[in-house]
Amino acid sequence: MMKIALDYDQTYSADPYFWQGVIKLAQHAGHEIRIVTARDDRFDRTEPLIHVEQIVPVIYCRGVAKKWHLTHFGDGFVPDIWIDDKPESITTNSSAPPEGLAEWRANRGEAMPETWETLTLGIGRDMERKRAKDQKA
Ligand SMILES: [Mg+2]
Repeated sequence: MMKIALDYDQTYSADPYFWQGVIKLAQHAGHEIRIVTARDDRFDRTEPLIHVEQIVPVIYCRGVAKKWHLTHFGDGFVPDIWIDDKPESITTNSSAPPEGLAEWRANRGEAMPETWETLTLGIGRDMERKRAKDQKA
């Protein structure tokens, strides 16, 4: 059984439908796969991430080096395999300054859910977008 860490931003988020297939395949094969993100759950648990949490556990490392965070706070989940567009985030703390993070949060185009109603609407919108994309292809 492999423990697999899958990054969120620019990895899972680059093609969610592809990675959902990978997640299902890994789970079917008996491997343990989780999303491991440098995001901070207090500020960055946006609608798409809450959606993802319904299919796979998400671990928020709050900018701390992912491997160190999981070794100390991962409840035994220390990955054998890492899938990450920014491999330095596995061993190095984030160097993003607070003003850079604030700008990223303002411009990322992902809503923070206020209620379960808005979350449900968010998932509905995702499905609409996928349907529109599929029709174009
Ligand atoms: Mg990333």
